[in-house]
Amino acid sequence: MHIFRNDTHLQHAPVHEFYDGALIPPFESAERARIIDRALDATGYPIHETISGIPESLLTRIHTHDYIHYLQHIYARWCTAGGATEAVLPSTLAVRWMHRHSPHPLAEPGYYAFDLSAPIVAGTWQAARDAASMAYSASLAVVNGAPYAYARCRPPGHHAGSDMCGGYCYLNNAAIAAETALARGRVAILDIDIHHGNGTQQIFYARNDVTFVSLHGQPEVMYPYFLGFADEHGVGSGYGHNRNIPLALGSDDATFLRAIDDACAYIQSQHVHTIVLSAGFDTYAGDPLGGFALTRDCYVHIGRRCAALGLPIVVVQEGGYAIEALGDNLVALLHGISGV
Ligand SMILES: [Zn+2]
Repeated sequence: MHIFRNDTHLQHAPVHEFYDGALIPPFESAERARIIDRALDATGYPIHETISGIPESLLTRIHTHDYIHYLQHIYARWCTAGGATEAVLPSTLAVRWMHRHSPHPLAEPGYYAFDLSAPIVAGTWQAARDAASMAYSASLAVVNGAPYAYARCRPPGHHAGSDMCGGYCYLNNAAIAAETALARGRVAILDIDIHHGNGTQQIFYARNDVTFVSLHGQPEVMYPYFLGFADEHGVGSGYGHNRNIPLALGSDDATFLRAIDDACAYIQSQHVHTIVLSAGFDTYAGDPLGGFALTRDCYVHIGRRCAALGLPIVVVQEGGYAIEALGDNLVALLHGISGV
């Protein structure tokens, strides 16, 4: 299990987020990465801390040129236009019949976001770019023959669509890992975060080279609410390559593992050559943004069942906000995969 991480994420440190009407310190914090690193340091897995950079041409196969340009420059433009220096956070969102594009620096954030939980600060672009770069490096390691690799991405990525940020996500790290792994042939992304990977689904919805399968809380009662239903199968040549498995709040190890078996059987039917695992740990019992009741042991079993597919696996860090348990939960998953 090769570990990829870097500390650029420290530059992404928003001071607050809106959460169900309240202005609070963000759940998604640098402390998460620190706890993970401490647990990883004790494993003996080889750790790669260099930043390779990421080809622009790879980024723009996943995200639009205009969105990348927006992320790179919006903080400075926003401040110059009189926006609060704490963070770029829109007051108005482009939704349904009101979605014309306005290039004004105070308007664009509402065009390129679907919620208020992806504030952009001075270092957000650099952090998101280097997180994507880690996903790229981990995937490249697998393309070059490593059986398993893990990218400690922060900020996470699975809510980011081709031209939209939200849910703490800016660039879709798992999508970038999948695009990279196409060098080995078809890819499946298995998303086990409790929140539906709406961005990943959108990016690959009309494609048949990357299959997306997601286990998550029922969207009727769980963020991001407006996507992730069981009847979303893909469109055009992507039809039949998208699978959502929504689960009830309170789901436990047994329920989740049954769904994992279901997902693994589906992946097998897709004849893929690499698995990208969007690994969120907010399924853990007591997670402040969760609602499932998984134990640590469950992550070992998830890892084993994924490994039993006999394919290389790129693990990409997504959510997980029960911070004290996060590092040990991750290590449980990685040990399950690598058979430690
Ligand atoms: Zn999540």
